[in-house]
Formats: sequence, C-alpha cells, structure tokens
Amino acid sequence: MQVLDGKLLSLTIKQEIAQKVNEIKLNDGKTPHLAAILVGNDGASETYVASKVKSCQEVGFKSTLVRLGADVTEQELLAQINMLNNDDDIDGFIVQLPLPRHIDEQKIVQAISPDKDVDGFHPVNVGKMVQNLPSFLPATPFGILTLLKRNHIDTNGKHCVVIGRSNIVGMPMSILMARKDNPGNCTVTLCHSATVNLKEEILRADIIIAALGKPEFVTADMVKEGAVVIDVGITRIKDESKKSGFSLKGDVKYDEVAKKASFITPVPGGVGPMTVVSLMLNTLKAAENKKIVQ
Ligand code: NAD
Repeated sequence: MQVLDGKLLSLTIKQEIAQKVNEIKLNDGKTPHLAAILVGNDGASETYVASKVKSCQEVGFKSTLVRLGADVTEQELLAQINMLNNDDDIDGFIVQLPLPRHIDEQKIVQAISPDKDVDGFHPVNVGKMVQNLPSFLPATPFGILTLLKRNHIDTNGKHCVVIGRSNIVGMPMSILMARKDNPGNCTVTLCHSATVNLKEEILRADIIIAALGKPEFVTADMVKEGAVVIDVGITRIKDESKKSGFSLKGDVKYDEVAKKASFITPVPGGVGPMTVVSLMLNTLKAAENKKIVQ
C-alpha cells in the first residue's frame, strides 16, 4: 500500500507556481491576484479561506479577503461580485460556500464572470468541462486528477465508483473520470443517497472516490483488494484532547481500508491540500488567460 501524500505534492506544486510567478515579476508582468468573499464567520469556512490566503502568500500572489456579515443581503453580495468582476487588478475570485440560507447560492455562482470563476462552478465552466474544452476545473476534482497523474496511477479502462453527487465534488469528479483523457477513460458509477446496494457497487471499484461527508463510512468489507482509495470527506469530530477542540475524520475507515488498498489518501494531508493548490493553479491560469486576451 502506498499513501498518496497530498501535502507533499502540494508543496512541490506550490514551488513550481512560485517559480512561474517570479518569472512573471522579472518580466515586469502583473502579479496574479486572487480575491475571496467570506460571508459570516463559520469556523470551517474561516479555516479554508485562511489557508487559501496563506497559499497565495507562499506562491507570491496578491490576495484580497472581502469579509461580509452573515446578515448581508443577496443584493449587497451581488453588488460586491459585480465590483470584483469589473476590477482589472483581480484575476480570479471565489465566494466561499456554504452561504447563509437567505442567499440563493446558484444565483451567486452564476453572477461570477466565467473568466474569473477560479472555483470552476459557473455553468459555462461546467459545460466546457463536460465537453473537455479548456476551462477552470473545480478545485477538489482537479486536485484529485493531479494526485492521480503525478503518482502515475493508471485509470485507463478502470471501474471508478464515486460516492456523492454534489456540484462541487461528486458530480464533476464523475464526469472527469469518464472523459477521454488521462487521468480519465474510466467506466464510472456515480452513487448517492438513493443508491440501492451501495456496498456491492463499491466492491466492484478499482478506484473509489468517497465524497459523502459521513465519517468512516467506507469500511474494509466494502473495498476490493488492491483498490485505489481517494477520501474526500472532512468532518470535524469533537475531540477534547485537541487544542482546537476537534479532530478531522475522512469518509473512509483509514486503518482497516489501508490494509486492502493499493493507494490511499490520508485525512488530513490528502485531498485537502491538493484542493487549495488547484485553486492557485486556476488563478495562475486566469492571470495568463487575461494576458492573452489583452
Ligand atoms: P454534500 O453534502 O453536498 O454531498 C454529499 C453527497 O453524498 C450527496 O450527493 C448525497 O447524495 C451523498 N450521500 C450522503 N449520504 C450518503 C449515503 N449514506 N450513501 C450514499 N451517498 C450519500 O457534500 P460535498 O460538499 O460534496 O462534500 C462531501 C465531503 O467532502 C464533506 O465531508 C466535505 O467536508 C468534504 N470536502 C472536502 C474537500 C477537500 O478539499 N478535501 C472539498 C470539498 C468537500
């Protein structure tokens, strides 16, 4: 069994990005600039945004954090998005999800200019992704593809089972694994809360991508010997022994599944860091695209 070390790979990719940013600066180019809108003060969202801002510093990007109160109106948020869409200095931006219930997430995602949509959630980018056209890929699936590719994992003709069909992870992941590409070219089964005989489906998988948000859901008896196991889940579990008061659990029961898997991602240190670095790659791409257009 080999551990797929997303933390280590993300550091390597950050160094590669930093080198490119240095070259851009040496050639008097504009420093790539990522902005993030954070609504309210949800603990997990605060952590995710802080790690995105830190990564920007590490690779040499400019970053801007726009904080809005949990009581911000949809109109006010749309106005903020409009400002970022029209700000020439901003290459790409994200609106950290989830948003408070009174705000329509779909409306917000669709208000972001597709050229600056570095999260890859806008329907224009999703459509391009489906057709294998150049686009911004959603960060988590993009990070998983990179993890598979850089570890030379053969996906061609394999049976991939994705568990979870959210717009940000499961659904795009299933499309990407089925595309005629490398990684890709899999026969994909997309499982969700209405799937009957889930265990039997997972047992047939050469590659399992678990993104359902249920801690330690995938157990060893559901996994075929030699399967590649990608654990996307991150759930905060109360843990008095930790300074933060919680520990993080994945969707896979790591200790027992690791004994059967050929490759497995840990939580933390697997998919999470790859997600953040993919956002950096998308931002660099947005900055480069802009140069081509101008
Ligand atoms: P979500 O809640 O939007 O979607 C969960 C999906 O799982 C749904 O499609 C649902 O049908 C399916 N599901 C739920 N229970 C199921 C069951 N018992 N059997 C089969 N399917 C079931 O979640 P999401 O936003 O896709 O996130 C999933 C997990 O991944 C969460 O733990 C989240 O924190 C984590 N996540 C991690 C990263 C990362 O960078 N590592 C990024 C995004 C999300």
